[in-house]
Amino acid sequence: MEEPEVKNEEAKGLNFVEQLVKEDLQAGKNGGRLNTRFPPEPNGYLHIGHAKASCMDFGVAEKFGGTCNLRFDDTNPVKEDVEYVDSIREDIHWLGFDWGDREYYASDYFPQLYDLAVRMIKEGKAYVDDQTSEQIAAQKGTPTEPGQNSPYRDRSVEENLDLFTRMNAGEFEEGSRVLRAKIDMASSNMHFRDPIMYRIIKTPHHRTGTTWKVYPMYDFAHGQSDYFEGVTHSICTLEFVPHRPLYEHFVKELADDSYCPRQIEFNRLNLTYTVMSKRKLLQLVKEGLVAGWDDPRMPTISGMRRRGYTPQSIRNFIDTIGYTKYEALNSVSLLEHAVRDDLNRVATRVMAVVNPVKLVLTNYPEDMVETVEMDNNPEQEGAGTHSMPFSRELYIERDDFMENPPKKFFRLAPGQEVRLKGAYIIKCEEVVKDAEGNITELRCTYDPESRSGLPGASRKVKGTLHWVSAPHAVDAEVRLYDRLFEVENPAAETERDFREMLNPQSLVIAHAKLEPYAARLGEKAGEKMQFQRIGYFTPDYDTRPGALVFNRTIALKDSWEKAKAKA
Ligand code: ATP
Ligand code: MG
Repeated sequence: MEEPEVKNEEAKGLNFVEQLVKEDLQAGKNGGRLNTRFPPEPNGYLHIGHAKASCMDFGVAEKFGGTCNLRFDDTNPVKEDVEYVDSIREDIHWLGFDWGDREYYASDYFPQLYDLAVRMIKEGKAYVDDQTSEQIAAQKGTPTEPGQNSPYRDRSVEENLDLFTRMNAGEFEEGSRVLRAKIDMASSNMHFRDPIMYRIIKTPHHRTGTTWKVYPMYDFAHGQSDYFEGVTHSICTLEFVPHRPLYEHFVKELADDSYCPRQIEFNRLNLTYTVMSKRKLLQLVKEGLVAGWDDPRMPTISGMRRRGYTPQSIRNFIDTIGYTKYEALNSVSLLEHAVRDDLNRVATRVMAVVNPVKLVLTNYPEDMVETVEMDNNPEQEGAGTHSMPFSRELYIERDDFMENPPKKFFRLAPGQEVRLKGAYIIKCEEVVKDAEGNITELRCTYDPESRSGLPGASRKVKGTLHWVSAPHAVDAEVRLYDRLFEVENPAAETERDFREMLNPQSLVIAHAKLEPYAARLGEKAGEKMQFQRIGYFTPDYDTRPGALVFNRTIALKDSWEKAKAKA
């Protein structure tokens, strides 16, 4: 057999899943076909963990020239909704993956699954159990003790068929009966102890309406759906390892030697300072603790997009952490590093003062306005420049001034000189305060010779500050986002409810002064900007001409790591 060609030339080595796939292809399994699937349940928005799974499912297919299906695993109408279907499609496309015309739904297979269940009943492999879920659970046993057989286990085929048909006709209440596989109540694998195949649900389904009153359980639906679709490699996360024998057991009802799907598991993505459970994320949304699934603090793809993360940075992060066979908790700092790294490449440099204080150059002519040319992006050749007005009245960052500075404070202080980036050297001569003692204005002088192109241009001072011209500045709301939780691993804290661990500083609203060019960019959704010396920002969906709103994607430096290092 020839070596399967690796289509992606950049791929440096294969991860363990790719290695297994390659071996199967080399062995000629499934006629040499490769078909994966990404199987989200449309019961919430995708989060970064799903991005990891998509990168795997679509990535392997791309690497070996196979295909990847998008399959909505829509077997529970109670929790599912078309809103989620639409958001999932959008998010996968945004990440850069495409499933072509291979968009499928587990609900498409309800007829075949039902037929298979009927066949299994006829073959004595399934039975209707009239017990409550509590009774069934009580008979399950423990990993070291066998379970007990249900009193309904040996019903006749006729009675089972009749009851199952009537379950689906809506004759019985939810929870009153289930269909179970007749396997082995003493199996050492708990999943083999007569697992439930079907339950009664009367909520209409978002695609099949009221056609069905019985719905298949994950274990009875997933492998079979893989089979019906021609999936060869069903890649999922480690919690499904104990389900694998059951996956294989059910799939054997359909498959033969020429084609049989195979389940392979990798480790989930868990991130520090957030939660990844869809149930908890839904709770945050429903209780209004965040502004929605796409709140920029959420670990969702849509939240990260709104916050200004790039798809490339997410994919780079996932490449960095890789795929293993053991669970881990990944540091969000790694993700943030990937975000900074990518934004540093693509973001347009502008000036904005987030917490402004007025600065007046007393020796600068009243009506004079000069223009300063600023680089749009020194990291990108050909990114060009834009001009920025300079005048007698400016704003600088309040934090860049200290009245009684410590020794190594190289920013502005009484009698101290700094350079205004791209412009002149200035010196602070006087501090003006209001009745409460708040600084309202800094009165400074400038050195007219110190601008680039003039004799004093090379004069060195220790600090360089960003600034904007006050009469030209445009106001904007800036939303300073930080980590959603204040503890590293909220999911591991058993004593407290996860909602008590939310970071009260995760959103701080500030009012900034922007240079005119930044304001123009701010009218455009999706624009990536660096507010120099502050961080990376992007216009929020709420931004409007005349009422600009920016999200801080990420600060320039990782203040959390610094704080931890100090502690
Ligand atoms: P649920 O609790 O609703 O089942 P889920 O997070 O497993 O939630 P699914 O929609 O079933 O969500 O997941 C779709 C795919 O994404 C599955 O293959 C699942 O294994 C994978 N996946 C889900 N969470 C993660 C994660 N944190 N890291 C990696 N893959 C994940
Ligand atoms: Mg799941």
